[in-house]
Amino acid sequence: MTTLEYPKIAAGKVRELYAVDDEHLLLVTSDRISAYDVVFDTPIPDKGRVLTAMSVFWFSLLSDVLPNHLVSYEDDRIPAEVRGRALLVRRLAMLPFEAVARGYLTGTGLADYRARGTVCGVELPPGLTESSRLPEPIFTPATKADRGSHDENIAFSDVVGQLGRERAEEVREATLAVYRRGAEFAAERGILLADTKLEFGVDREGNLVLADEVLTPDSSRYWPAGGYAPDSPQPSFDKQPLRDWLTSPASGWHRRDRPGSPPLPEDIVAATRARYIESYERITGRSLQDWPA
Ligand code: ATP
Ligand code: MG
Repeated sequence: MTTLEYPKIAAGKVRELYAVDDEHLLLVTSDRISAYDVVFDTPIPDKGRVLTAMSVFWFSLLSDVLPNHLVSYEDDRIPAEVRGRALLVRRLAMLPFEAVARGYLTGTGLADYRARGTVCGVELPPGLTESSRLPEPIFTPATKADRGSHDENIAFSDVVGQLGRERAEEVREATLAVYRRGAEFAAERGILLADTKLEFGVDREGNLVLADEVLTPDSSRYWPAGGYAPDSPQPSFDKQPLRDWLTSPASGWHRRDRPGSPPLPEDIVAATRARYIESYERITGRSLQDWPA
């Protein structure tokens, strides 16, 4: 069996989604990497396995918090060519939001705060700066933008308007619970979870189910706790070697106004790959060698 035998129903920057049958999907994570909104042609070997293994780890750790869509990562319906980087999942009716939780102020959260003093309508105290730790984690939903455009932050009241108060509150509480558990777990391993983006679906019985990927370096900002210094941007645990190279004179990329996707040098690929593997091994305490390939 190959993935070609399944109809492809979606392709994102990094993942592809196939229909296995009426009730199941195959979620395949490639080795592609994106930074500054550019997807690079040079793959990062094993990145797809790392993200997949990490999602599986977290789904299991979070299973007492809420149900998730994972059926299997080693089922016969998973073609050999994508083994280790594909999940067989339950097909859900996805909610049309990115459910974001933030424990630190950065990215669009910081931009909104600077413009209005609030993020997604949540009032924050004055005097916070770049990378400040928030008094408590906040729920900051966003629209799911079409390919090529950016997700837009929205207010909780917009989610209530679309889903009804009860479901909206359920999503908010579930998102914050996942963030809290993830942040606490990572902190014990020397890593700060600055924020994370979740996607939820609803199953046939009407249950809210955690879907997509969870607490991966692609859906979350992980920062090394050691050098944490508010009032400035924090290095990313995983993509920093790539970002540093892109913004250095060596790449020529920034100076030429970010033209397309330059081929990535071998040492940058190796350093980035090592970071992804280290983030998996540090957070989960497992070795990637023990994961299917
Ligand atoms: P990108 O990540 O490139 O910005 P994206 O999030 O749309 O775009 P991917 O993450 O690559 O794309 O693809 C995953 C797609 O699969 C998403 O549209 C997501 O909503 C959908 N999806 C994930 N899990 C399920 C599920 N259990 N049932 C139905 N759809 C799902
Ligand atoms: Mg995605």
